[in-house]
Amino acid sequence: MKAEFNKELIKKYDRPGPRYTSYPPATEFNERFGAEEYIKRLIKSNERKTPLSLYFHIPFCEQRCLYCGCNVIISHRKGIEEPYLERVYKEMDLVSQYIDKDRKVIQLHWGGGTPNYLSPEQIKKFFGEIEKRFPIDENAEISIELDPRYLTDEQIKAIKEVGFNRVSMGIQDLNPKVQQAVNRVQPYELIKEKMEKLREAGFESINVDLIYGLPYQTKESFEETVEKVIELNPDRIATYSFAYIPQIKPHQQLLPKEALPSAEEKLRILEMVIERFQSAGYVYIGMDHFAKPHDELAVAQRKGELWRNFQGYTTKKGVELLGFGATSIGMLYDSYFQNWKTLRDYNKTVDEGRIPVFRGYVLNEDDFIRREVIMDIMCNLGVEFGKIEKMFSINFKEYFERELEELREMEEDGLIKIEEDRIRILPVGRLLIRNVAMVFDAHLRKKKEVSFSKTI
Ligand code: SF4
Repeated sequence: MKAEFNKELIKKYDRPGPRYTSYPPATEFNERFGAEEYIKRLIKSNERKTPLSLYFHIPFCEQRCLYCGCNVIISHRKGIEEPYLERVYKEMDLVSQYIDKDRKVIQLHWGGGTPNYLSPEQIKKFFGEIEKRFPIDENAEISIELDPRYLTDEQIKAIKEVGFNRVSMGIQDLNPKVQQAVNRVQPYELIKEKMEKLREAGFESINVDLIYGLPYQTKESFEETVEKVIELNPDRIATYSFAYIPQIKPHQQLLPKEALPSAEEKLRILEMVIERFQSAGYVYIGMDHFAKPHDELAVAQRKGELWRNFQGYTTKKGVELLGFGATSIGMLYDSYFQNWKTLRDYNKTVDEGRIPVFRGYVLNEDDFIRREVIMDIMCNLGVEFGKIEKMFSINFKEYFERELEELREMEEDGLIKIEEDRIRILPVGRLLIRNVAMVFDAHLRKKKEVSFSKTI
């Protein structure tokens, strides 16, 4: 089912909302749940014997991209990463002592920052340290984010050798003027060359990220980027909407504000993006993500088995995620935990021999039910009442009487169809799934004011 662009409805429903990489979202985490609670829940998690997903955060970058919304440390001076890696090894010791050794890792991801800030030797050592503490399944999905500007042949060799099988590269925009304005200059030829080398090296899947809403972008200019990306033939594409928040990210003040595309122009860009990638054969997964029809994300969505976690869409529903490094978030079945965000706090806590978690959230009964409903809307384009009733022993129509009533307007607008036994997202509603999900968000309901980014 293709997504259909309807400008009037997008305008009507465009309002702040979470991206639901978790439910409840990270804005609900609080400091009542710290390391002690985490340890208790880690031990308990062994009873479930669920496989593991590991996330490692490498917060260093060579240069600041002016649009960036991440917490990063900018430094050309190599050497600062070494003590950080040592602390990540120590953090792994602190956490892995509570995890049964027979729980296999079926998913592993290095994000950042820039994971290829590390040298080939550091990459090999780091991976070896992970293997010492956690058994990695031979069919595990092992992925890494790469910055093409600094990617060397030796790094490609090292990441392949240790076992990475998926890579993700930030392209953002190929227009030289836009690249200058955002302080990320990376010519098309360079990206093409790196993609070819990654393919030759035999990586199973190559993802690329784009951003729309950057200075000097127009529908016409961004269309050229989109056409070139289609030629590059990546397996997955994420096209994010740029959030201009200079009051929170002061470096964004260096962007030429007057050159930012208007809300109207951003909609024109989005319409073109949806149209071009779909007609080039990509499946619109949702929330700015596209994948080839044979890609496992698209297959899982067709089967109704897709899920979301802090890295976005995933086929690994039911795994428990352990996050390592500053800012990382872990997701156990019944709880979420986040590490200290600044290096100072992270370093201090690990040096004191304590797990560096500073806040978290423990789901209540209602959260479990709503999480299942929201994830089905976000990932699998609808909710089957029977499935939820069976899982949680509730009567769906009674439990969600108010929500079903509120959804009537969206049904009249053609976003969804409420049937006897399910809610289905219709093509026009696919770009507004967050709005449908938000109706089921009890935490959002409680808040008078929200401060999330706009839904588009
Ligand atoms: S490379 Fe990535 S993480 Fe680093 S500053 Fe640029 S956008 Fe941010």
